Amino acid sequence: MVNKTIIVSNRLPVKIVEENGEYILSPSEGGLATGLGSVYKKGHNIWVGWPGIEVPEHRQQEVTEKLAALNLIPVFLTPDEINLYYEGFSNEVLWPVFHYMVTYAHFEQTYWDFYQSVNAKFKNVVISHLNKGDTVWVHDYQLLLLPELIRSFQPQVTIGFFQHIPFPSYEMFRLIPWREELISGMFGADLLGFHTFDDVRHFLSAASHLSTAKVSNNVITYKDRQIVVEAFPMGIDAAKFENLTHDPLVAEHVLSLKETMHGCKVILTIDRLDYSKGILQRLQAYELLLESHPEYIEQLSLYMIVVPSRDTVAQYKELKDQIDQLVGNINAHFRTLNWLPVHYFYRSFPVEFLSALYSTADICLVTPMRDGMNLVSKEYIASRADQTGVLILSEMAGASKELNDALIVNPNNIGEVMRAIVEAINMPVQEQKTRMSVLRGIVRKFDIHLWVKNFMDKLEEVKNMQESLLTKYAAAEVKEQIGIAYRKAADRYIFLDYDGTLVGFNGDIDKAAPDEELYQILQQLTADPGNQVVIVSGRRHQTLEAWFGHLKLGLIAEHGAWQKHDGQEWKSLPLLTDKWKQEIKTVLDSYTDRTPGSFTEDKSYSLVWHYRKAEEGLGELRANEIVNHLEATVADHGLQMMPGNKVIEFKNIEVNKGKATLAWLHDHHPDFIIALGDDHTDEDIFKALKPEDYTIKVGSNLSAARYYLRNFMEVREFLKTLSEIA
Ligand code: UDP
Repeated sequence: MVNKTIIVSNRLPVKIVEENGEYILSPSEGGLATGLGSVYKKGHNIWVGWPGIEVPEHRQQEVTEKLAALNLIPVFLTPDEINLYYEGFSNEVLWPVFHYMVTYAHFEQTYWDFYQSVNAKFKNVVISHLNKGDTVWVHDYQLLLLPELIRSFQPQVTIGFFQHIPFPSYEMFRLIPWREELISGMFGADLLGFHTFDDVRHFLSAASHLSTAKVSNNVITYKDRQIVVEAFPMGIDAAKFENLTHDPLVAEHVLSLKETMHGCKVILTIDRLDYSKGILQRLQAYELLLESHPEYIEQLSLYMIVVPSRDTVAQYKELKDQIDQLVGNINAHFRTLNWLPVHYFYRSFPVEFLSALYSTADICLVTPMRDGMNLVSKEYIASRADQTGVLILSEMAGASKELNDALIVNPNNIGEVMRAIVEAINMPVQEQKTRMSVLRGIVRKFDIHLWVKNFMDKLEEVKNMQESLLTKYAAAEVKEQIGIAYRKAADRYIFLDYDGTLVGFNGDIDKAAPDEELYQILQQLTADPGNQVVIVSGRRHQTLEAWFGHLKLGLIAEHGAWQKHDGQEWKSLPLLTDKWKQEIKTVLDSYTDRTPGSFTEDKSYSLVWHYRKAEEGLGELRANEIVNHLEATVADHGLQMMPGNKVIEFKNIEVNKGKATLAWLHDHHPDFIIALGDDHTDEDIFKALKPEDYTIKVGSNLSAARYYLRNFMEVREFLKTLSEIA
């Protein structure tokens, strides 16, 4: 059976209307639907979601069939479910809390009951299509419980989750009465994606406060599974907005808009009606501008589109009334016979008209109080074919993390917003072009298609990582099996790390000297002429000499820089090659592509990845990822990876335990090889050896080794048993 991908979101990417008793379907052309089109329209892939209208039961079959032709699978919801799960829990609990408007939240028990039952309803539809090897990608805050619901049914399945709205700080999130359940629901995913690193940080903080999961960097270890949390700033269909600027209909709209605006400079704002968008504050800033800079009267106009949304809900209706009133006041106060300060529309427009507005506007003013990403800002940039125009952008919008060359403002600071408008009005064309060309480069490169690809690639990578790192406990049967292989063999190599493997950790490294019991075990092991026992340590060779020089042991010191065969002198390693560079550089470049502000420096004897100019925190996160990603490659090539201040440096130093072990085995073909170690440097040995060799990690079950033991005492016990085998 071919594996497939299942996209799940609250809404299907389709609009259904009933005309003359017939259901007419029109696919959505939104950016997300376009981006995900490359996924759900392929092969057996599907998209599961609510079709957006109430369909009576006797006609659900008919709608299901029509949707199936588009690879869409419906979850039919009753009016009660829409009311309580969607309008209720999603939009009156999660939306306000996640947007820091906690006073608007209603923590109703029935909302929660329906949120759970509707998430379970989605689960039932998903699992009726789910096979073992499938991948599921769940979208957004309406379905936070779904990942875990699916996983409890099918534990091995690959699940990604992306949240399109911000994730709040723990202090906000904790206010929700059902916070633990929400976090556990999300933990069902293998990869959790958010728009910005701040969201990632907040989620990790909530996760560590509200669960027993172990959080390390951006990896959560929960119920023996690793969950990766990552920032994937969503892009738009940039090509579509660029192409629209050449559309004749758009050109027509541009002409008529220019005529209407009488040569005034145009400030454009476009939002859905929502309290998170900062519409009132923006109007206040504009009013302040007209008051304190009367010279701009008749020189500029605010073109304001508010797209209707939920205006039957009290808070939204109230917001709309306030906007109507403030616009009315500004227009009444400042208008002249030939000029209107605010052109206000409470409606939506076709994309051709939006494109014409983006092309016409000298300034785009985007000042949400809090916004997951904000696509309008990116659409404006993509539409500025002549590279002019100024974007004023709230620092509270996710987009501000990438679009550094916009004029960034705090939307609560009315004076600052006003000053930014003045700066934008007076910005020289050359500076506009310099800024806009950088912004356009970002929007074009980090578009919706790259976003989908980055997420799907990462999800696959996470799954592979999980599988490769799951090591089995070396239980009694395993030890017995190793014992049998040991007994059968006549030529055995036993590689042993020292600190943490043969002795416990000691804060003072000089105090971790071998004790009598250890000497006895080693002596007994080496007494067997079939055994070559090698200590592979990061310690100085002088230390190993002092501790073990008198025994019949092989010694590898300083991670391989020094070696001593039994009865011979210590030898250091000859140097070196630089063939590794191209492979490392390709990987670093792929991170540069996902991390605005980062770059790779190619020096003659090293490669350096710099992230000084990347978003604060995101650079560090990526650096950690690079360390993880390149660990194996670096080991294979015998390189050294050195994280520094906002850089990671890769140096040509051919020293590691894996290489040293292989060198030791050079030209030897023993019939039994075993290696034990506890440290990340021992992973190099585990990876260097063949899959049939015995490798045992000490202290953790996440390793490239085949098995693990819990601590050095278990190691000693195990070695003792081996040494007693005749
Ligand atoms: N939009 C639209 N019709 C309109 C006005 C806006 O389709 O009349 C679109 C706009 O092009 C953008 C989206 O609505 O893609 C708004 O997305 P954004 O992220 O800015 O805000 P959201 O509404 O998702 O919070």
